[in-house]
Amino acid sequence: MADLDAILSGNLAEVEERIWAACARAERDRSEVTLVAVTKYVSTEVARGLLRHGVTDLGESRPQELWKKAAAIPEAKWHLVGHLQRNKVERTLPLVQLIHSVDSIRLLEALEAEAAKQQRTVEVLLELNLSGEEAKHGFRPGGNEIETLPATLSRLQHVRVIGLMTMAALEENSERSRPAFTRLREFREKMAGMGFGACRHLSMGMSNDFEVAIEEGATLVRIGTALFRGLEGVP
Ligand SMILES: *Cc1c(COP(=O)(O)O)cnc(C)c1O
Repeated sequence: MADLDAILSGNLAEVEERIWAACARAERDRSEVTLVAVTKYVSTEVARGLLRHGVTDLGESRPQELWKKAAAIPEAKWHLVGHLQRNKVERTLPLVQLIHSVDSIRLLEALEAEAAKQQRTVEVLLELNLSGEEAKHGFRPGGNEIETLPATLSRLQHVRVIGLMTMAALEENSERSRPAFTRLREFREKMAGMGFGACRHLSMGMSNDFEVAIEEGATLVRIGTALFRGLEGVP
């Protein structure tokens, strides 16, 4: 535990310092950026360790893993950051603070139906595929689904779309992620222009590119590896 806490606090201090520096460069307030610690590489015990160091928001990319860890650590605010299959909506809804990765109209509609059934509202982000990679999930700008989004969004009563998310292509040089982040910000402005004013969040930036993302306006950064460096099993 002593070792674990020392490693976590060291990594966290370093990440925090980089977040502060990026905020300063962009003349943004630190409070505008929420650190979501993505715990997919580590055990429940390690994830819980983060709470001892003041992290409140935890994320998982796989629903089953989120179910497991959220049951063990209900005091955290849980974020689902990866693909959600429709047959996993029912179990996921009661556990999450925010779903970052809504990538189809069908999923939006499944969430609306299930949230109505459970008599709750759920906050979500729309995932955009801006890198054009086939393997990635997300709405594609210029795609058919994007066209019908405004009509779908205006029908939702239990799902609140509060922002957008993207995953940049993995690049050695983080500057190469910047155009995707800029595009996400511009897309949010376009949505605001269409009357979706509540669409305020931008979830973008991971261990390798979160500073650039903050400079481009990220309000949620999803960081895994950089927080867990030095622990067993972490890439
Ligand atoms: C794993 C993951 C992250 C964190 O990635 P790191 O490079 O480890 O910081 C962020 N977002 C999503 C969607 C992920 O799956």
